[in-house]
Amino acid sequence: MQQLQYDVAIVGGGIAGLTAAVYAAKAGKKTIVIERAERLGGRAISNKKKGAYFNLGGHALYHGDAYATFRGLGLSLQGNKPSIDGYGIWKGKLHTMPMGVSSLLTTPLLSWRGKTELASWLAKLGKLDTRRYDRVSLREWIEGNVRDPMTRHLFYALLRTASYVAAPDLQAAGPVLKQLQNSLQGVLYLDRGWGATVDELGMKASDLGVRFLTKSKAASVDHGEGAVRHVQCEDGTRIEAANIVLAVPPAAACQLVPHAEATALHAWKEQAIEITSACLDVALRRLPKPKQQFVYGIDQTVFLSNQSRAAYLSDDGAQVVSLIKYQGKETDPEQDLRELEQALDLIQPGWRDELIVSQYLPKITVCHDFMHLKRQENPGPAVPEIKGLYVAGDWASHGEMLVDASTASAKRAVRHMLSLEDKERNPFDELRSII
Ligand SMILES: Cc1cc2nc3c(=O)[nH]c(=O)nc-3n(C[C@H](O)[C@H](O)[C@H](O)COP(=O)(O)OP(=O)(O)OC[C@H]3O[C@@H](n4cnc5c(N)ncnc54)[C@H](O)[C@@H]3O)c2cc1C
Repeated sequence: MQQLQYDVAIVGGGIAGLTAAVYAAKAGKKTIVIERAERLGGRAISNKKKGAYFNLGGHALYHGDAYATFRGLGLSLQGNKPSIDGYGIWKGKLHTMPMGVSSLLTTPLLSWRGKTELASWLAKLGKLDTRRYDRVSLREWIEGNVRDPMTRHLFYALLRTASYVAAPDLQAAGPVLKQLQNSLQGVLYLDRGWGATVDELGMKASDLGVRFLTKSKAASVDHGEGAVRHVQCEDGTRIEAANIVLAVPPAAACQLVPHAEATALHAWKEQAIEITSACLDVALRRLPKPKQQFVYGIDQTVFLSNQSRAAYLSDDGAQVVSLIKYQGKETDPEQDLRELEQALDLIQPGWRDELIVSQYLPKITVCHDFMHLKRQENPGPAVPEIKGLYVAGDWASHGEMLVDASTASAKRAVRHMLSLEDKERNPFDELRSII
């Protein structure tokens, strides 16, 4: 049995785990990451197939915490902003989506009243104080603030696309409106997929001295006398550490920790509502309809984006197009695939003749929890019952969405452990500041 000793052990080598590792190592901590897969990156990996780079479903980097974190760490973030000119599917037909001045004036989707209302919202949305709507459902916000019925449909489509959530009665309006504000600043499609950024983040961690144990599944995180002791891996490796970050899904975190039911981990797992989607990605020799590259479903929960219009995603000029079906509780993978293919038939008729390679993910977890109204509390950063135990991941959100929650929660965990150490080292500081 291998016995190792570290200051910080991180279980899970997705973006949350890697971010926590970089920040812990930057603070001078001897850090290790334990990842059960062969590769680092979790759901942010990319796979290369016949010269095309596929993410695990369409991914866009918003102007949120992850973008700021990666820029701050000096990652190259190569890629570009796609144009937001697009179409909407309404009653089986494609219509220009009113996103700018000229499309707003010409779209047949809206009445004059609807156009005026949408124009006024687009003008003021950027300045909206979204925190006022943190305890209001998205449906309540839309129905209470938007009067024109078609403008409401457009808001549902835009906000669903920004968050991947198709549950307006449950979703808290504030965080998703914030996400829409971020997306209106323009998103980034990354060259060679998100995998390239994950690789850079991993290299950054490695340069700072972080050690990686890949193909190594953590089996338990043992604790005693109210503090963490070690991570036990399935292959027998034991890693002693005073600080352990669980950068894994909430159910996995609970399974790892003996007697988790007596800790906040259990409540965080119970309140979590997973978001899933069906994803069809295709690499096409050419687009049969070159202008139809960005399409929102208005009366159906699908979305299409040709990510190649802004990012290098193929070594031989293929067009890499991502389609997403936002899923609710009940899903039918066959039906979802049919819906996605029908959308592609409508948007890119004849695409099958141009197909080089495809990838279908019938039900992938986009996020392990989101900001919804049944949430009792924001998870982490520390598990209060066990000293030295922390959580990070897209479910450990304090208002952020998707990968922004992964990076923000990872930084919160490291910040918390450092401030605790500081307090322990200088116990009289607090007293002195009071005096
Ligand atoms: C289809 C799709 C589209 C998306 N689009 C966007 C988007 O446009 N914008 C955006 O911001 N975000 C998007 N996301 C979300 C984003 O990919 C995730 O939020 C982010 O990658 C999650 O990172 P994480 O580190 O929190 O979790 P994960 O990536 O899930 O990492 C957890 C890691 O823990 C490992 N692990 C689990 N159990 C153990 C164990 N016992 N021992 C060791 N290792 C273990 C796993 O193998 C995994 O590597 C999308 C996700 C999907 C699926």
